[in-house]
Amino acid sequence: MPHAAALATAMEGRNGRLRRAPAIYGKLARVSARVIDGRAVAAAVREEISAGVAAFREEHGRVPGLATVLIGEDEASAVYVASKHRACEQVGMRAIEHTLPKDVTREEAIALVERLNADPEVSGILVQLPLPGHLDESDVTNRIIPEKDVDGLTVESAGRLAIGLVGLRPCTPVGVMRLLREAGAQLDGAEAVILGRSNLFGKPMGRLLVEAHATMTICHSHTRDLASACRRADVLIAAVGRARLVQGDWIKPGAVVIDVGITRTEDGLVGDVDFDAALEVASAITPVPGGVGPMTIASLLQNTLQAALWTA
Ligand code: NAP
Repeated sequence: MPHAAALATAMEGRNGRLRRAPAIYGKLARVSARVIDGRAVAAAVREEISAGVAAFREEHGRVPGLATVLIGEDEASAVYVASKHRACEQVGMRAIEHTLPKDVTREEAIALVERLNADPEVSGILVQLPLPGHLDESDVTNRIIPEKDVDGLTVESAGRLAIGLVGLRPCTPVGVMRLLREAGAQLDGAEAVILGRSNLFGKPMGRLLVEAHATMTICHSHTRDLASACRRADVLIAAVGRARLVQGDWIKPGAVVIDVGITRTEDGLVGDVDFDAALEVASAITPVPGGVGPMTIASLLQNTLQAALWTA
């Protein structure tokens, strides 16, 4: 979107609330991007899910259940699992907790996953990573059947996404697609550029954008001219984990910018994009924190409800 059009959009306040008014410099007006409020979008998604859970209970006489498998005593993992349980309970789902000791054998871990696969009370299964060093993560997680793979990270789910078959998609890319929709981003025919090619985010994000008819480029640490690639993007999605890597002059005027990266610095949590500079150029941008982050758990709940509907 050219500056003038982006400015008009900003002034009309289309697609939501503006956090900043455009600054006027003499006769030149600088665009101030709309800040996409991930917390508000995630709250709206959770409300939709609560309604979906109530309808599911009405029809099936039980609620969807998310089974989590935590192996070992990693403190951060325990905190993540607890927050997923809370999120489940807030939307009326059941959280089913399984904790295994850090020296559990491969056979015992796999046996648990297979029991959960067969359990009709369990709609979705999540094995919290990382696993203790003696366990091969993909060996354990790939046992989850695709209908219950709410993280969307097994080989079968990735393959289904790659060839366009129905399946559960990874949570963060699903959350980003929702944010793009809320931002009013036009994806059909758009140039979309992703920084980062991880299996967790960059690759599945690319597939979802192609499904939405965008022309997609994935950049990584070997990309020769990152700035030029970024300047082509109508939709720019950064998932690298390098604080403020993306400069303001890398951004096409009017682009929608999604900042997935999180780096802990002395200034607190910082994204991959120079947020203040980007505000002057982009038409919309996600903040860090409060942008993509809140969408990940909301998407996990969405996947669990979807899994419950498929396996009911
Ligand atoms: P990752 O597996 O570490 O992948 C990072 C990617 O960035 C790799 O593809 C790497 O390229 C690329 N890269 C590194 N330095 C680069 C550079 N200077 N220029 C261009 N590309 C570069 O990370 P991830 O798991 O995808 O996560 C990325 C970031 O997103 C992290 O900060 C993570 O915390 C954040 N994240 C946030 C959420 C959330 O819910 N908010 C969810 C997932 C991830 P190579 O492949 O060539 O090494």
